[in-house]
Amino acid sequence: MALYTASFSAIKLEIVAIRNACQRLNTFNLEGCELYSSCEPCPMCLSAIYWSHIDKVYYGNSREDAAKIKFDDKFIYDELSLEIKERKIPISQISRDEAIKAFNIWEKEENKIRY
Ligand SMILES: [Zn+2]
Repeated sequence: MALYTASFSAIKLEIVAIRNACQRLNTFNLEGCELYSSCEPCPMCLSAIYWSHIDKVYYGNSREDAAKIKFDDKFIYDELSLEIKERKIPISQISRDEAIKAFNIWEKEENKIRY
């Protein structure tokens, strides 16, 4: 299946296309699918692409082209390469002892669907 998007807006059309494909195919795993986009996916859409296991992505405009018209994802790409403590938005771990309980329950679940 081929997914087509135009990534002009903050709506993040790659994610809309992925969601539509998942609903249409009744799966969250899009192996065997390719995504076509007017622009190199932003970091958020790239994450969705990886999570959905899409096989291949084709794009027209580069992230540099996007920056020229003020759709600049460079800041986010730069942030991702930093250690958490070096990022602009403070991100702190809290309540791990409580949070880990949910993961422990999930890990023991026998009927879970693996991503
Ligand atoms: Zn995006």
